[in-house]
Amino acid sequence: MDYLININPAYLDLAYVLAAVLFIIGLKGLCRPRTAVRGNILGATGMLIAVLATVPMMLKEGQDKHIMTTVGLVVAAVLIGSVIGALLALKIRMTTMPQMVALLNGFGGGASVLVAGAEQLAKGGSGGLVVAVATVASGLIGGVTFWGSLVAFAKLEEYKWFKKPCYYPGLRTINALLGIIAIVLFVWGVMHPESTAIYWALVLLASVLGLTLVNPIGGADMPVVIALLNSYSGLAAASTGFVLGNSVLIIAGALVGALGIILTQIMCKAMNRSMTNVLFGTLGPGEGAQTADEVYGGKVKSTTADEVAMMLDGARRVVIVPGYGMAVAQAQHAVSELSELLESRGVEVDFAIHPVAGRMPGHMNVLLAEADVPYDKLKEMDEVNPTFSQTDVAIVIGANDVVNPVARTDPNSPIAGMPILDVDKARTVVIIKRSLSPGFAGIPNPLFAADNTLMYFADGKKAILDLLMALKE
Ligand code: NDP
Repeated sequence: MDYLININPAYLDLAYVLAAVLFIIGLKGLCRPRTAVRGNILGATGMLIAVLATVPMMLKEGQDKHIMTTVGLVVAAVLIGSVIGALLALKIRMTTMPQMVALLNGFGGGASVLVAGAEQLAKGGSGGLVVAVATVASGLIGGVTFWGSLVAFAKLEEYKWFKKPCYYPGLRTINALLGIIAIVLFVWGVMHPESTAIYWALVLLASVLGLTLVNPIGGADMPVVIALLNSYSGLAAASTGFVLGNSVLIIAGALVGALGIILTQIMCKAMNRSMTNVLFGTLGPGEGAQTADEVYGGKVKSTTADEVAMMLDGARRVVIVPGYGMAVAQAQHAVSELSELLESRGVEVDFAIHPVAGRMPGHMNVLLAEADVPYDKLKEMDEVNPTFSQTDVAIVIGANDVVNPVARTDPNSPIAGMPILDVDKARTVVIIKRSLSPGFAGIPNPLFAADNTLMYFADGKKAILDLLMALKE
């Protein structure tokens, strides 16, 4: 134990530098599906090194107290965190990954609030101006992140009270007032760094803000909110890094903060919404929007595996468009087999990937990579859209919002302006889904009633397996 306490601090700083380098190389690896697994392992290794290097520092700080208590606390924290992390990672389904990200963001924000609060209590606000600013910043950003993330989680889990965006007149004024009070408390907290009352009042206010800011946001904007809260959790962690004087926490927090903002902007672009519009706009089916009966009434044509197989026999180019339903059905392996079979018969096959298809960024890429679909077959929206007019059959499996032409035609729709995959321009569109139920945005899709569309009603996996059988017969 003495050896750990007396370890040369230069070695610990070196370990932190190594951890930071591994984070950065790991993040670079995450940019490409081919290098993503290695990137993830490098990042996790960096985190392990950072945790291990922190242990001697904690022992040193706690040596005046009962040393075994400090050791016990460290071991208990690491064990509890590891067990919860491992259980969550093992139990979570691929389709509910965004909920897990929301929870992890929330835990990050909550941890920042508690650690900064504990430091203030222990040191009585004696750390100087930087620490005072960092403490109140941790409380403010962490509080918003914690409660905002819990609401995001509840919305994604579709809990009854959170299903619909909760917007009422005057909410913007209330939020603006809360924001002003938060700024006042922030400044007051910096001027009185010893006051725990001000700190916790700020945390309370931030918690209310977290609820009132995220609750009115709904439907198709949730991915952006998750990415933004991810950024907030990073900023809260970086602030706490300043409170603790811990450089690796500052670096890791700043990286998460910056990447979260970049991802937020990419998502906003993919949905054609400004960040302000996402955060302060209201969502929900627009006024005068058509009901499902008006859109579908008597116009939907259904098809069978045999009929689709016949169509594919004569096709030269086929584009497969996966969506959330492919993930639910776990149909990626069957889809991959279908693509191989068609290619072996001389058909040109591509996969069209929408940036927000599924329930998390890169969802479809991950599933198709798992099923060994070559990366060069996965075409991004800008690349594949001009090719739909030369496509004989577009097979849409479990996608809905990302192929909904209403995004182009109805300015009042919740997905208005969102760039979509132009599958309706293909000669024939086959839609595989179980019913005419709406997708995440909760609106009908006129594509299902279009002249060139055939609905193949079935579970995604079963539909493709039946289709494979029909093609082989
Ligand atoms: P959608 O949510 O629009 O539609 C999915 C469709 O899949 C449903 O209509 C459903 O119809 C069908 N489906 C469900 N289960 C099955 C199954 N077992 N077999 C076949 N079909 C099935 O998905 P998209 O991918 O088109 O769009 C994604 C939506 O999610 C967008 O609105 C996006 O904004 C939002 N979002 C995206 C996130 C991201 O980061 N990618 C994160 C959070 C939300 P049925 O029940 O009739 O089968």
